[in-house]
Amino acid sequence: MNRRELLGAAALAGLAWADDAFAATRLTAAQRRALRAAVRGPVFFPGASGYDAARRVFNRRFDGVRPPAVVRARDTTDVQAAVRWAERFGVPLVARSGGHGYTGDSTSRTAVVIDVGGLDRISLSGTTATLGPGARNLAVYAALAARKRTIPSGSCPTVAAGGLVLGGGMGLAGRAYGLTLDRVRSFDVVTADGRRRRVEGDDDLFWALRGGGAGFGIVTAIRLRTVAVPRACGFRVSYPRAGRAEALEAWESLHAPRELTSILTLDTGGASVFGQYLGSEAALRRLVAPLANATLTTGTDTYLNLQRRWAGCADGGLPACLRYSPTTFAAASVYVSKRLTSAGRRAFVDAADTGASLICDAYGGAINEVSAHATAFVHRHARFSVQILSYTGAATARSRVDRARRLIAGHGNGQAYQNYPDLDQPGPLRAYYGDNLERLRRIKREADPGKRFISAV
Ligand SMILES: Cc1cc2nc3c(=O)[nH]c(=O)nc-3n(C[C@H](O)[C@H](O)[C@H](O)COP(=O)(O)OP(=O)(O)OC[C@H]3O[C@@H](n4cnc5c(N)ncnc54)[C@H](O)[C@@H]3O)c2cc1C
Repeated sequence: MNRRELLGAAALAGLAWADDAFAATRLTAAQRRALRAAVRGPVFFPGASGYDAARRVFNRRFDGVRPPAVVRARDTTDVQAAVRWAERFGVPLVARSGGHGYTGDSTSRTAVVIDVGGLDRISLSGTTATLGPGARNLAVYAALAARKRTIPSGSCPTVAAGGLVLGGGMGLAGRAYGLTLDRVRSFDVVTADGRRRRVEGDDDLFWALRGGGAGFGIVTAIRLRTVAVPRACGFRVSYPRAGRAEALEAWESLHAPRELTSILTLDTGGASVFGQYLGSEAALRRLVAPLANATLTTGTDTYLNLQRRWAGCADGGLPACLRYSPTTFAAASVYVSKRLTSAGRRAFVDAADTGASLICDAYGGAINEVSAHATAFVHRHARFSVQILSYTGAATARSRVDRARRLIAGHGNGQAYQNYPDLDQPGPLRAYYGDNLERLRRIKREADPGKRFISAV
């Protein structure tokens, strides 16, 4: 790894391990005073009341990271003021919306955190939704469903639009309507010069913000094309431990129309497949018949209730869904673009026996109709993405995920989903951005010549 790649990987890691090599930033008293005076939202410095709550992110592996300050921006003017302050004092910045970045990417020991989680407005004008970057998935589904509209998005209820859309946004309407980023009409973004810009059309920055991740500016609003809430139903089928390879083969053989998006999970105990179909339950039962065994269940519900089910909070109201519950985990990602051989299926089963779960999201449909170079999201030829996930103590989780990845990597296409990043990913930048990396690097140099924002590229 050369120095540039090292720095890129370090940035991807939210400086979590790079901090071994680089000293933490300490703000002087004058810098602190100037920051407080510049913004209207609260600013938290180490040692002050509220700092510990303000600095923590979703993945508790990064509980020990102590940024030099956390600014809770009240509005776009606050974001601009913080960027100008950083320019004046030469301090790096990192944005945070929902704090779910897997590798602690929205915290840092060296960069001041600009937390835009409070910019969470959701509005609809005609068919265009405008989201603040802090708008949470389930709140977005609920607010739009009340107006009989929706967007394709992820299933975690508390993930925020800001981080999700910059890296992709895959969920159970993905094959029908594309990734969240495929629905974006324009962004408002505060750039390194402190200007607020609306980017859209063939603007380079608009291209980069759809898949290129953090580091090009701080997004303060996202406008997206919505669709009418569809009729929808869901299914679930389970397999015993001995049926895992068979489950994988049956799932891969499914002739699914784009209205069906399904997810297969393999773990030590067995396999399961669940999914959402935008159509009638009778048609769904016919479509998933090749998967069926005694445990197949199907059901029809309102679109919002189905999203709550996928989010794991079908019981209880919206507040229960939006409860923020940080936890410790490690994860990695592998994209598969060719049909697995029997050796490949065996490798997947062995990987599940490491104790990590393998969560496979079906791609294709609307996702793969977009060219790999139309946005910075390059993964347009995948059959499915595999998320390797372990929720347990950090060292065990990391080792399980790493072993599982090694077992299946040879059956993947060398790419990985940038929204499921991993500190141990070999060649991370090429895996996340493929041959879009050079254009991303050029745009980064032009948009942020002083490297104000922490960035992978
Ligand atoms: C439990 C869980 C479930 C998930 N489920 C899904 C899923 O179903 N589908 C899916 O596609 N993904 C899913 N993800 C991944 C998720 O999309 C990413 O972790 C995403 O980056 C989180 O966004 P955030 O704003 O919550 O996180 P943050 O940690 O706040 O941000 C993540 C990255 O984006 C940058 N960033 C955040 N906001 C801004 C902004 N306003 N301007 C510029 N840069 C910004 C940060 O600096 C950081 O690098 C899941 C994650 C978790 C933890």
